[in-house]
Amino acid sequence: MSKNKSRESVKVVVRCRPLNRKEEPNGPAGGIVQMDLRLGQVILRNPRAPPSEPQKTFTFDAVYDANSKQRDLYDESVRPLIDSVLAGFNGTIFAYGQTGTGKTYTMQGVWLDPEKRGVIPNAFDHIFTHISRSQSDKQYLVRASYLEIYREEIRDLLDPNHGSARGLELRESPETGVYVQDLTSCVCKSLKEIEEVMNVGNQARAVGATDMNEHSSRSHALFLITVECSQPGPDGRKHIRVGRLNLVDLAGSERQTKTGVQGDRLKEAAKINLSLSALGNVISALADGRSGHVPYRDSKLTRLLQDSLGGNAKTVMVATLGPASLHYDETLTTLRYANRAKNIQNQPRVNEDPKDALLREFQKEIARLRAQLNHRRWRSKQKKDQLEGEGWERDGDEETEGEEEEVEKEAEEYMKMEEQRLEKEKEAIREDQSMLAEEKQRLLGEKEKMMGDLRKQQEAAEQLTAKYKAMESKLLVGGKNIIDHTNEQQKMLEIKRQEIAEQTRGEREMQQQMLVQDEETLELKETFTSLQQEVEAKTKKLKKLYTKLQCIKAEIKDVNDEHVRSRQELEQTQNELTRELKLKYLIIENFIPPEEKNKIMNRLTFDPEEDQWKLKSLVPAESESLQMKKRPVSAVGYKRPISQHARAAIATGHHSRYRVSVWVIGLVNLFIPRVWNTCFQKAAFKYLHAIKELLKVWNTENPFFSIHSYY
Ligand code: ADP
Ligand code: MG
Repeated sequence: MSKNKSRESVKVVVRCRPLNRKEEPNGPAGGIVQMDLRLGQVILRNPRAPPSEPQKTFTFDAVYDANSKQRDLYDESVRPLIDSVLAGFNGTIFAYGQTGTGKTYTMQGVWLDPEKRGVIPNAFDHIFTHISRSQSDKQYLVRASYLEIYREEIRDLLDPNHGSARGLELRESPETGVYVQDLTSCVCKSLKEIEEVMNVGNQARAVGATDMNEHSSRSHALFLITVECSQPGPDGRKHIRVGRLNLVDLAGSERQTKTGVQGDRLKEAAKINLSLSALGNVISALADGRSGHVPYRDSKLTRLLQDSLGGNAKTVMVATLGPASLHYDETLTTLRYANRAKNIQNQPRVNEDPKDALLREFQKEIARLRAQLNHRRWRSKQKKDQLEGEGWERDGDEETEGEEEEVEKEAEEYMKMEEQRLEKEKEAIREDQSMLAEEKQRLLGEKEKMMGDLRKQQEAAEQLTAKYKAMESKLLVGGKNIIDHTNEQQKMLEIKRQEIAEQTRGEREMQQQMLVQDEETLELKETFTSLQQEVEAKTKKLKKLYTKLQCIKAEIKDVNDEHVRSRQELEQTQNELTRELKLKYLIIENFIPPEEKNKIMNRLTFDPEEDQWKLKSLVPAESESLQMKKRPVSAVGYKRPISQHARAAIATGHHSRYRVSVWVIGLVNLFIPRVWNTCFQKAAFKYLHAIKELLKVWNTENPFFSIHSYY
């Protein structure tokens, strides 16, 4: 428990899935993982160690074994977080673990089976049920976005062109922190709509992947929900609270081997797990608490989760395990990772009245449309009253709902009356025998025009009403029945379940505290009646401490081994990268002329946002972008550019009439629109350089017919 009220640690829960059919024949029923649900402990057995070696024990906020229900995990560990989001906090839930351990099962589950629905569908239901049950003075706006990070590229899963579009960029603002620029955000008015959004995204994910299993184990999926809520405060003004919820299904945490991989494949392999290893480094840095620098900027994932880890958010991490002995190492790594994450401290606070709240914009627009609509209706009412000879007076700007309805009705009546009046007048004109045909035609035309205007007015009013209604429907009003949850019994059942979950949580916390206190106070309480008894007690204690010491020694050895392993991997990667670098140097030194190299170096700049080198355009001004570069001016005194060779020949007195200088003008610098990519330039330079080398040979052998190049 934190002393500072505004600080709270990341909640870490662990879940172990049941043994699957393939694993069952290999191991004991329970596998290598045992769980003490009451104490929130995981006990891990090393299948390779002698039986005398003590087992490893880890304590978490809650643990869920193979028999755990989706609903239990939700009620106990997720529900309080969603409640906080609804109250205006930022919240994050992320599932971390090896591929096949149940991350997706925990986050999504089986949608069609109510028993097996995961965190995401349960959260959707929770949010919309909460809105439908809240007071009617509250207005809500719910938005959803869905993205994935694959090979360090952010892809918008709700963008229909997401397969072909370029990866999205991250930006930072003081108000919202780090966000994804141009990310699609869908306003969801109901449970059905938000489920549809999730479906669309899941389908886009599956379509983009050649092998869905491999893709999902290597990509991170983030579903983002923003809930804005406006409620009148004690000052009478409407205040807005914004809660943002990140639901994250991470890539599989197993190590991707880079051994023996070269070139582009090496870069790809390095990128696949970059976000995950960066996440590990961020967690270590935060848990350690001593290192001032937290490397959030090392990957897209860590930047997006910056607020969730050590910032303004409440965070729950679900670490998933498999029980099979085959994966002992991975399971241990996951437990260590999770254990470290417990120490991260966040500073969550309610996001009150942020400047960029969309709800405020919506409210303003709705008010504007409403005023426009009312103005039209009042004008119609006024005209109607005048027609009927009634006096017209408007009391004030604000009218009650009843009044508004009446005005709307009267406005409609006015329109009908006008139409009827015009029809009658037309009829009268047609039947008037005294009028000339021409005059009749003119008057009828006038009336027709008036009717046209009236229809136009009517259409405009209808359009305005439709726009107003569409806009208004996006805002959800508390107390209105979005979901059929009127059943009081169901409500009571939910409340009871919540109470039980809270009780279980409280009991576990108390048990854990008692365990710690027991160990501390045992010594103080002990009184011995005889020396023999004292020796026995102390021997027992010594044994206990010795076991603890062995545990810690084993832990140190494990950590060292892990450290050595990751260092070896890093060294190997470094060796391969150095080898590749040497190859690139060799090519540059031998095939790119130094002046060209310098030119290119001067044009290169590093873009830290995109983590890439960029080649500055050759053509500086926008307006000149399509103009050709100027031809080189003639050497003074000559009609056209003249080669050095020719100049030297003239200087030495050879008759230049018999010598021909041909210029091969390189295209590269002459006409390069911005769109030509660096690839083309590289190829062009390479070929021009080869030509230059050939020309050198030619010119020494043919002094009277020299060919020179310029580029
Ligand atoms: P991950 O997303 O971590 O790669 P999955 O969620 O796809 O793993 O789970 C792998 C398999 O294990 C799936 O067939 C899933 O149904 C099953 N599974 C995972 N967790 C559980 C659980 N708690 N209870 C029952 N089946 C589970
Ligand atoms: Mg998965």
